[in-house]
Amino acid sequence: QFHPTGIDIGRDPAPLATEALRGEGAALINQRGERFMLSVHPDAELAPRDVVARGIFREIKAGRRVYLDARQAVGARFADAFPTVFAACQAVGINPALAPIPVAPAAHYHMGGLATDDLGRTTVNGLWAVGECASTGVHGANRLASNSLLEAVVFGARAAADMDAQSPPERSILLLTPPALGGRGRDMKTMRQVMTRFVGLERDGVGLAQALAQISALMAGLKAEPMAQNQAMAALLIAAGAYQRTESRGGHFRTDYRRTAPDWAHRTFLTLKDALSIAERARAEQGSGANALFAAAGT
Ligand SMILES: Cc1cc2nc3c(=O)[nH]c(=O)nc-3n(C[C@H](O)[C@H](O)[C@H](O)COP(=O)(O)OP(=O)(O)OC[C@H]3O[C@@H](n4cnc5c(N)ncnc54)[C@H](O)[C@@H]3O)c2cc1C
Repeated sequence: QFHPTGIDIGRDPAPLATEALRGEGAALINQRGERFMLSVHPDAELAPRDVVARGIFREIKAGRRVYLDARQAVGARFADAFPTVFAACQAVGINPALAPIPVAPAAHYHMGGLATDDLGRTTVNGLWAVGECASTGVHGANRLASNSLLEAVVFGARAAADMDAQSPPERSILLLTPPALGGRGRDMKTMRQVMTRFVGLERDGVGLAQALAQISALMAGLKAEPMAQNQAMAALLIAAGAYQRTESRGGHFRTDYRRTAPDWAHRTFLTLKDALSIAERARAEQGSGANALFAAAGT
């Protein structure tokens, strides 16, 4: 899921301009001062998150910068009402009470994840998953703001109670410690670029095939680095799921399948083996187009 209004000030990760600002009446304008969302959706700035994110994305793709203008709606109340956003803007010399905030969509939340049941159990005996890494199905294709914390609290309690009721495990699994997080810099940069370009706000079959080919190649080179390989594996599963879902729904938008298809109104579950065979199929189906992209990218 992409958040519509990351604050576009060159920080990584981008701080967010909370959606409550649009709720207060802040307007999205492009560099010409046009409220472009009026022509995108009847609810304009208050359209669903994915619609607003794509509206902004298309303006930026067309070469126009986008701003969130809270001058009239919030104005002098800004610092008190939205202190976090105010501080992020102030840090780069923007006073959002007096000037529009530059914004761009940002990758925000991972809908989907490890398949779990109502108690947070995965298909691996003795392994529970809760929170953003789990796929409970509660978010559909377009998580509503704040539902992830609700999900973490509800399923966290359920999983804890379920674990409590079990006898202690006979053996424990070796955990990788957080300092090992993150792959090799160059590979991670490439993977982020591939995901942004081909598995971003708008996808199509040719681009997804290209992403699958590049991620598979990266994965093969990361065998000695389990954390980086895990990240590549997650990317591969996301791209494979997007390739096989030949429709658009919520945060998943295919320019070659723009409509929502009733037949796809369900979750999909993939193993790594499934994802690799989808990558093979994509290579065969999209071969020439994906190869042309591959050559154009020079990678
Ligand atoms: C800017 C921002 C604003 C948000 N605002 C909202 C909001 O208003 N409302 C809402 O509902 N949701 C919001 N979300 C989403 C929500 O914050 C997340 O979905 C939620 O925090 C996920 O919690 P989690 O415990 O599943 O994962 P995390 O909070 O990501 O915790 C995972 C932890 O596991 C650790 N870890 C990772 N790998 C390992 C390892 N191998 N070994 C040991 N430890 C490991 C990490 O260091 C981390 O501490 C927001 C997200 C962002 C980014």
